[in-house]
Amino acid sequence: MGIGVWAYLRELEVERAEILAAVERVLDSGTLILGPEVRAFEEAFAAWCGVPHGVGVASGTDALILGLKALGVGPGDEVLTVANTAVPTVSAIVSAGAAPRFVDVDPRTMLMDAARLEEAITERTRCLLPVHLYGQCVDMEAVRRAAAAHSLACLEDCAQAHGATHRGRRAGSMGDAAAFSFYPTKVLGGFGDGGMVLTPDAGRAERLRRLRFYGMEGDYRAREHGTNSRLDEVHAAILRGRLARVDGYLARRRALALRYDEGLAGLDLGLPVTAEGNGHAHYLYVCRHPSRDRLLAALAERDIHLNTSYRWPIHLMDAYRDLGYRPGDLPETERACDEVFSLPMYPSLSDGEQEGVIRALREVLG
Ligand SMILES: *Cc1c(COP(=O)(O)O)cnc(C)c1O
Repeated sequence: MGIGVWAYLRELEVERAEILAAVERVLDSGTLILGPEVRAFEEAFAAWCGVPHGVGVASGTDALILGLKALGVGPGDEVLTVANTAVPTVSAIVSAGAAPRFVDVDPRTMLMDAARLEEAITERTRCLLPVHLYGQCVDMEAVRRAAAAHSLACLEDCAQAHGATHRGRRAGSMGDAAAFSFYPTKVLGGFGDGGMVLTPDAGRAERLRRLRFYGMEGDYRAREHGTNSRLDEVHAAILRGRLARVDGYLARRRALALRYDEGLAGLDLGLPVTAEGNGHAHYLYVCRHPSRDRLLAALAERDIHLNTSYRWPIHLMDAYRDLGYRPGDLPETERACDEVFSLPMYPSLSDGEQEGVIRALREVLG
């Protein structure tokens, strides 16, 4: 069936007229870089998340790198995160000059197990980097407690968690800073790459504005070493329009998740678990099965092609061999990577398409 990786194009098609109008608005304005659209989108998105400041950047990866730098993380520092995430979570730590260290995950939610932070913190640990994976928040009370007890900074990776809540607070509002991605497949995606760093701290926001602009201020003199990482006016204009629709899209994702929960109940299949106090954004609907690959092959025969997020634990990837991890070091993470797969989950998935997926799973597993 024609559902899967490129599904976001369907939402963009629905919004075609709005997207073209946003592009025209930028054309008419004559400002392409760091103008009124970026500023307006920064304010709107930060407000939607309940955070005072937002700084638009070129990608979620850059949001993580610059977020770490703005928190003072650099060479000699260790950053604690998880290994069942998108590679950029980890590559950003290395790009910031620091060393990633991993904590294992809670087997129920597959999120960072905050109870394991205490034993993982060393005198070199400088920052905690929880990943709100699949659209669900990490237990941020526990993360904040550990951060406070050891005077550590906390950066939230919110690339999969636009609109997720934890005890009534939105993802991105619970750390010292938060990194978002607007890559097209995300809950709020743009028409290309983009990202944003949120922070409650005005001084840190100002520093981020310098870091994304060659370290310069308005007088074109560099106050520190910086880079070029800007959100373009066109992307910001499109994202501003899409932000108005995101609550509706989140509601549709919630309805789809509920239908999967009902339709798949009773099967020999691990369904997503929402931790107490969490409002799930349902970026992905991730199931578990001990014979995952056999199950996916049987579904592929029925022309249902599913993704796995994530199949390869990052601590065992060639690129990060130097970190010194071995198979068995993160048993829950490694088991999750062997068992997870994602069902189609995006707002324009039709009820009929979803029923087809449910029926196929019931046949294959029943
Ligand atoms: C997508 C993603 C990123 C990176 O965002 P880009 O905009 O693609 O650079 C980082 N972390 C997680 C968890 C992601 O899913």
